Amino acid sequence: ILLCGGTGCTSSGSQTLVKEFKKELIKHELMDEVELVITGCFGLCELGPVVIVYPEGTFYSRVEPSDIPELVEEHLVKGRPLERLIYSEKKEGEHPLSINELGFYKKQKRIALANCGVIDPEDIEEYIAFDGYMALEKVLFKMTPQEVIDEVKASGLRGRGGGGFPTGLKWQFAYNADSPDGVKFVACNADEGDPGAFMDRSVLEGDPHRLIEAMAIAAYAIGAQKGYVYVRAEYPIAVKRLQIAIDQAKDYGLLGDNVFDTDFSFDLEIRLGAGAFVCGEETALMNSVEGKRGEPRPRPPFPANKGLFERPTVLNNVETYANIPTIILEGAESFASVGTEKSKGTKVFALGGKINNTGLLEIPMGTTLREVIYEIGGGIPNGKAFKAAQTGGPSGGCIPSSELDIPIDYDNLISIGAMMGSGGLIVMDEDNCMVDVARFFLDFTQDESCGKCPPCRIGTKRMLEILERICDGQGEEGDIERLEELAEGIKASALCGLGQTAPNPVLSTIKYFRDEYEAHIYEKR
Ligand code: SF4
Repeated sequence: ILLCGGTGCTSSGSQTLVKEFKKELIKHELMDEVELVITGCFGLCELGPVVIVYPEGTFYSRVEPSDIPELVEEHLVKGRPLERLIYSEKKEGEHPLSINELGFYKKQKRIALANCGVIDPEDIEEYIAFDGYMALEKVLFKMTPQEVIDEVKASGLRGRGGGGFPTGLKWQFAYNADSPDGVKFVACNADEGDPGAFMDRSVLEGDPHRLIEAMAIAAYAIGAQKGYVYVRAEYPIAVKRLQIAIDQAKDYGLLGDNVFDTDFSFDLEIRLGAGAFVCGEETALMNSVEGKRGEPRPRPPFPANKGLFERPTVLNNVETYANIPTIILEGAESFASVGTEKSKGTKVFALGGKINNTGLLEIPMGTTLREVIYEIGGGIPNGKAFKAAQTGGPSGGCIPSSELDIPIDYDNLISIGAMMGSGGLIVMDEDNCMVDVARFFLDFTQDESCGKCPPCRIGTKRMLEILERICDGQGEEGDIERLEELAEGIKASALCGLGQTAPNPVLSTIKYFRDEYEAHIYEKR
């Protein structure tokens, strides 16, 4: 029995099912035959608490503690799946679907999330049973650091945190960089602060050893001895499981001195972020790790040359790292066979807003937004019409219904004024006001601006004032043009990515929904 222990299902009460299951398994003397495994997120958070019973893979949704006696009695004792709790997309009376047949999963391809919802994240033996740490063993015994970097380059993996920079190239720069004392670092950005985003949290909660293994591989490749995972303190389950995983890896000789009895030594430490969105910006993150105020630093120098403690540093986000063990084990060619010409592999999205199947999904690059919304997401609730989807959170833009068939990849999204971002995907229906959506995101970035540079500190405030008066029915002729002028100025002159991308939601909503701005301004009641 797999029981989801991710944050979504935990908040809908999955932990209360554990005691009930154990009680019933003891009562029916099934403890030796049935194993109860608390896993990470299955993805269909909307339907939690989720329970899956194997070998059939029967998918039970919204399970209550009071359902457990009947579920154990019927399914496990009598061998009759409990139909009333089975989530089925087919009509009543048809044979229930197992997890692999559900529309939500059919179009997905799981690489970063391969073990999420499959293994117990607090048990290193389960990770090892699913080929865990074999990629690390392979690089230590069979590959030189340069061969590892070449493999990552050949895979075409690009940074999943939003920028899309080629990961192998980043590693090459850090490998080539000189360090005055030979010290280099690897770091992981797990500060995921976009509203609606929970991809990295789910990997940390569901498969923390994958991150540890990947960071050890990166450290070996660039010659680092120490790594930091910068994770937001608002993720208590993720932090707890990552710490358990680090301790277990040390006990198994997979972290620390002489990993696998080789000359390679690597230590990993967690640093907690205090909830500042700007600390997701790489240079602000490094300041914060060093114990300084979380403000961005000017670039260059780039982290690969002068990062943490002024030493060469590779910084990737959780999802980027989560692809590394698969690339090493299965080869760059296999990874590059998935996706589009310039965007290889898969992308994890957190799907939210006006959508039936709220949850977490991983799709091959090149999947269309229509497939995500209607096949995986199950469409818009209450028969409403799709209006737009916001990708990339407060740094991104919206995709209107006219672009539903565009294959999702880094370059296509930029070409239509949106961006991949880290993977938050918020769906809007016909009832949403797009000016209000832009106001919401700008309010967020304005609030989170660190205030270091005037274009962002003052410019976003002026933009927000204009948006608020438009939403209040007090907009003036010329306000749209004023927003566009301010947006271009801020994009061109803000110091860091937060400010440079803050105007994006405004510009993309003006591009596709200018009529809504004009209606607010010129059709006042
Ligand atoms: Fe701070 Fe904004 Fe300037 Fe970035 S752009 S340094 S967040 S004020």
